[in-house]
Amino acid sequence: MKKKTAQEKKSGTVASLGEFPLITNMTRNLQTDDSVVHGVGDDCAVLKYTLQKYQLFSTDMVIEDVHFKRDEMNPKYIGYKALARNISDIAAMGGDPTYAVVSIALPGDLSLDFVKGIYAGLKGCAARYGVLIIGGDTAQHEKIVISIAILGEVEKQHLVLRSGAKEHDRVFVTGKLGGSIMKKHYSFKPRIAEAAFLTQHTKVNAMIDISDGLLQDLSHILVASGVGCVIETSRVPISPDAFKRAGHDERKALQAALTDGEDFELLFTVSASKAPHLLEKWKRELWTPLTEIGSITKTKKVFLRDVDGQEIEVVPSGFHHFQ
Ligand SMILES: [Mg+2]
Repeated sequence: MKKKTAQEKKSGTVASLGEFPLITNMTRNLQTDDSVVHGVGDDCAVLKYTLQKYQLFSTDMVIEDVHFKRDEMNPKYIGYKALARNISDIAAMGGDPTYAVVSIALPGDLSLDFVKGIYAGLKGCAARYGVLIIGGDTAQHEKIVISIAILGEVEKQHLVLRSGAKEHDRVFVTGKLGGSIMKKHYSFKPRIAEAAFLTQHTKVNAMIDISDGLLQDLSHILVASGVGCVIETSRVPISPDAFKRAGHDERKALQAALTDGEDFELLFTVSASKAPHLLEKWKRELWTPLTEIGSITKTKKVFLRDVDGQEIEVVPSGFHHFQ
């Protein structure tokens, strides 16, 4: 993202606050009632639903020139990405997506073929993950904006929040990280099947999907759970694209894996006693890589530990939407 200009830094502006303090600020004192099991502060809101299940509810948008460039992307991928991001948030709660409504703003001079392409991508993604698109809204605007609200459901005993990480838990990540800008950010596969496998075969204490970068999203789990973490840098799974982009400089590739946004992998914690069994069972049954990258600590800090045991403290950074 571009650097803040002097004007934007002026106090009292959106940019002066930053994304996460802004959310805290705006959502203070929202009205609620006992049908809301968990409101603001996780990947989805959790609502009372049936005896066995909760309903999940979330929303996410993609904006031209922020999340994609019109000329660089096949319109199918724009539609796919817009819905897949929402599905990823349902996966992060251990749930299954069900219904979506799609609001879309389009420039008046955009070709109909382009719009058809966007919808083909939306429909393809919906069909692949069992989501029914059941409504939406359209408007005219100079940039393409797609805002989707999604519903999902989760067995009560399978619900995973960000807030359950405990001292000594092992930290795991699916897939490989970094360099998503090369391709993965528009072709990633939301980890619905992997989340289902996890909730069926182990007790996941905390989970989030990586949208803003490993360290940034890890910090959401740590803050919500009131704990810290040590990451073993030699274990972090770095994607081939991160290596390629970094000109095969290992330090730069690691930096990308730790901070690049839009990987949409699952980051979660499991108790130390359950971790070995999970790894073994996962490797027998799933193709998606699963890597143990560190452990949860009582101290509310984040340390990166290298192969020689040297530790450095880091202040999580990543993709800040208003900087
Ligand atoms: Mg998320």
